[in-house]
Amino acid sequence: MAQISKNARTASATQRFYCTCGGEVKMKSVFSDGKIRNMAECEKCKRKERRPRDFK
Ligand SMILES: [Zn+2]
Repeated sequence: MAQISKNARTASATQRFYCTCGGEVKMKSVFSDGKIRNMAECEKCKRKERRPRDFK
């Protein structure tokens, strides 16, 4: 169990993406339809995408 939690922590902390405008993309947890979804949002132009990789 210790191995699993260690891997999960590194996976969530090291990702970093940038929008085409140059702003940094931040992951946000959005509560909709009774579920928590992760949304990627550029902090500069406020563009939203479902995945950070979509900002290219
Ligand atoms: Zn942007």
